[in-house]
Amino acid sequence: VSKPHKLHIYFFPMIASGHLIPMVDMARLFAQRGVKATIILTPFNAALFSKTIERDRELGLETSIRLINFPFAEVGMPEGCENLSSITSPEMFPKIFKATELLQQPLEKLLEEDRPDCLVADMYFPWATEVASKHGIPRLAFHGTGAYALCVHHVISQQEPYKNVESDSEVFTVPDLPDTITMTKRQLPDHIRDGTKNHMEKFIEKVTEAEMKSYGVLVNSFHELEPAYSEYYKEVVGRRTWHIGPVSLSNRDNEDKARRGNKTSIDEHECLSWLASKKPNSVLYVCFGSLSSFSTAQLLEIAMGLEASGQQFIWVVRKDKSKEKENEEWLPEAFEQRLEGRGIIIRGWAPQVLILDHESVGGFMTHCGWNSILEGVTAGVPMITWPHFAEQFYNEKLVTNILRVGVGVGAQEWCRWPDDCKIYVKKEDIEKAVAQLMDSEEAEETRSRAKALGAMAKKAVEKGGSSYSDLSAFLEELELNRN
Ligand code: UDP
Repeated sequence: VSKPHKLHIYFFPMIASGHLIPMVDMARLFAQRGVKATIILTPFNAALFSKTIERDRELGLETSIRLINFPFAEVGMPEGCENLSSITSPEMFPKIFKATELLQQPLEKLLEEDRPDCLVADMYFPWATEVASKHGIPRLAFHGTGAYALCVHHVISQQEPYKNVESDSEVFTVPDLPDTITMTKRQLPDHIRDGTKNHMEKFIEKVTEAEMKSYGVLVNSFHELEPAYSEYYKEVVGRRTWHIGPVSLSNRDNEDKARRGNKTSIDEHECLSWLASKKPNSVLYVCFGSLSSFSTAQLLEIAMGLEASGQQFIWVVRKDKSKEKENEEWLPEAFEQRLEGRGIIIRGWAPQVLILDHESVGGFMTHCGWNSILEGVTAGVPMITWPHFAEQFYNEKLVTNILRVGVGVGAQEWCRWPDDCKIYVKKEDIEKAVAQLMDSEEAEETRSRAKALGAMAKKAVEKGGSSYSDLSAFLEELELNRN
């Protein structure tokens, strides 16, 4: 009897770093477990990962990229605008969404050619369930967030507890969850807050429907991090799920973790040698993901808060296209000269996983994007939480109230497109949170809880660990069900 071919799985991520990075890592993880993994990318995004995939192939892994063109011209977007990070105004959002819908045909063509055994497609492509089923292929959904946020979202959208409050700042409780979680309307998306069904809400309905019809959901998280919610998601929300992360641990060495490809002002060796000159747990890493941007006034406030804290730091400032010409007026006079040796600013893209894994890093100020949180958890680093939008306000509560591995900086409201003078968090609050995390009586306990979680994360992906076993179970099931 001839040996059946390897399981072949397609991975189709949304065009945003917070979705591309974990999906590519996931594909590589599957390849490490003997699967043939094909990642569907647009040319600009493919360039960010091509070196990594080449390295994997040299190691004998069957990982490859297939390209589909991104129809930016068809929707009236500038050339090369293939990533949510290129969006600089809310008006561009519907266009890029329209473009992602147009990816259906080219994907279908590839599915017909290759006939993979399974399609893992981002939640942003609700049409993928139907397209896959037409070809008899099971579709798995990927959200890029944890079970905890998916459960909170489920309860908020089903039960609408925010309807019980009079004002945007009044606190309400999200009912029926394993923990008591309180929120305000200011921390929720616009379409929930203003109660009108805009295109986003209709889109989310489609996503939920497609997910219910899909084969199940792959979650980049590990059971021990959110046990009650991984059960709740299965039992109450009613989804078939597999917790298979943290997928960032599929990166083997510094070369992998550096994630070259994005533009940056620093070379990772420079960053590492700077960190090597510092004491363990003595540096705060400050980064707000791939999409968040700040007003000039807020950036200035952060600079002053960091300076006043007296702590050492690496601060990543995303280059926002609309601010490129501003000549760095967001920095206090002679800031970098004054803080030489104590703090560095990375303009553009930082080698985040590499930095977080360094023993000199003792704290992480984060916008609470799920990947950042999971990477912080995995590295055993306690966090300062500063949520901006999306499900980040939910994630904050997981870090500060449930896992108790961080302190909140006091952000109260959504900030997606900040105007130029708005300050969301004052320098005094930044300074206070930094002091509390890096240098207070509770700091040691918080740190040791974070370290314990980091050890659990690593154990989860080792042979016999929870994520390892969940992935084995998933692969066995696919193997049994394939045609
Ligand atoms: N990231 C990075 N360097 C940066 C900014 C972000 O490597 O300078 C990575 C980070 O490690 C994470 C992803 O980009 O894997 C961001 O995802 P997250 O969910 O944290 O936030 P988002 O960008 O989606 O808001």
